[in-house]
Amino acid sequence: MQTLTILGSTGSVGVNTLDVVSRHAERFRVAAITGHSHVDALFEQCVRHRPEFAVLVQPGAARILAQRIAGVGLSTRVLSGEQGLTEVATLPHVDTVMAAIVGIAGLRSTFAAARAGKRLLLANKESLVTAGAVFMDAVRSNHATLLPIDSEHNAIFQVLPHDYAGDLAKSGVRRILLTASGGPFRTLSLNELAGVTPEAACSHPNWIMGRKISVDSATMMNKGLEVIEAQWLFGAAAHQIEVVIHPESIVHSLVEYVDGSVLAQLGHPDMRTPIAQALAAPERIDSGVPALELAQLAQLTFARPDHARFPCLGLAYDALRADAGAPIALNAANEVAVDAFLAGRARFTDIARACTAALSRRSVARIAHLDDALAADAEARAIACAELDIPMRPGVSMGEDVEAVR
Ligand code: NAD
Ligand code: MG
Repeated sequence: MQTLTILGSTGSVGVNTLDVVSRHAERFRVAAITGHSHVDALFEQCVRHRPEFAVLVQPGAARILAQRIAGVGLSTRVLSGEQGLTEVATLPHVDTVMAAIVGIAGLRSTFAAARAGKRLLLANKESLVTAGAVFMDAVRSNHATLLPIDSEHNAIFQVLPHDYAGDLAKSGVRRILLTASGGPFRTLSLNELAGVTPEAACSHPNWIMGRKISVDSATMMNKGLEVIEAQWLFGAAAHQIEVVIHPESIVHSLVEYVDGSVLAQLGHPDMRTPIAQALAAPERIDSGVPALELAQLAQLTFARPDHARFPCLGLAYDALRADAGAPIALNAANEVAVDAFLAGRARFTDIARACTAALSRRSVARIAHLDDALAADAEARAIACAELDIPMRPGVSMGEDVEAVR
């Protein structure tokens, strides 16, 4: 029996994780679930999954949840704040932690799980983007097991040799090919991009995801963050990672070997596949995802990314080639600008502008501890707010929970 904490259980990845887990009650037990402030969503999950702990970051929301839990006679203990997240990420009897909080808000709790030596299912790519070296150190020195949930990285993980130890050349790998759908605005002109709405940006053609990552997919910043994530997960240099546009989102990524073999992982664009793979590895379990009918797909297409219309991808490559502070600045400015875009206070094309400003105006700092990363994050947030002429917002919340996907 595997005992699980799901950080960010009320979000898109969290809901998909609970869906897979509930298909295998004999294998998995949910010890803790967490959300930001959405009482109804976490309460319903408590009733259904009966965890020992539930955390809502916002204290007022946590108090209401505790009353509702007591009202129906459940024994779930309700915690609040960042402290509550860290507590459930490190519970001694928990084997596996799903890190599915969005943004750098997930960094401390995800890091705590790594330090506690957990089997860590990583959806929160922002942890690796912002604290890559420190984070990977914590994983190694505490013997944590890191399993990628991002569909591309999970695909690469599946097609690399099973004993892959972080050296691409040694394993005969020439390149990693990350596929990208191109998002909902793949064919729009630069002029058209300036006028797109948050609703249009959040209507991804293939994937149902949280609002922040949906906007990131539309700007292609998501792929940029994934290039940086791939560097840390697989020990790949910038020139060994290539992005290929693949609008159908069926090929989730590929690895090219020196003998010319290209191995890919295919499947429906449904996060339950990578989640089930990581939950059960090295075994395989049913995820609820239907069979892939190749003949029905008829064709799969591929193209090169257009850096002029989607500058965020190039900014991420620039950040990857610069010092350790650059990806932090890029991520922070992006979080601020996406938040502002979703709230109607910035245009879609302002996102790349804010990121460019943060990258060029930040001070270069050594990132030896988590606190160094958080200081660099705060500096870049201030630069992005000044560039967009918006007030600084306290905290790093990415806002409301998504509606349950299924
Ligand atoms: P989401 O917005 O649907 O859910 C985010 C979760 O984080 C929710 O439970 C929310 O309550 C919680 N949260 C938000 N702000 C918080 C804060 N300040 N403190 C604590 N908790 C907070 O996001 P998602 O789409 O599920 O994505 C989660 C992570 O997984 C992101 O890092 C994303 O990049 C990554 N990811 C998602 C998908 C996907 O299909 N959705 C795919 C690959 C990677
Ligand atoms: Mg992805």
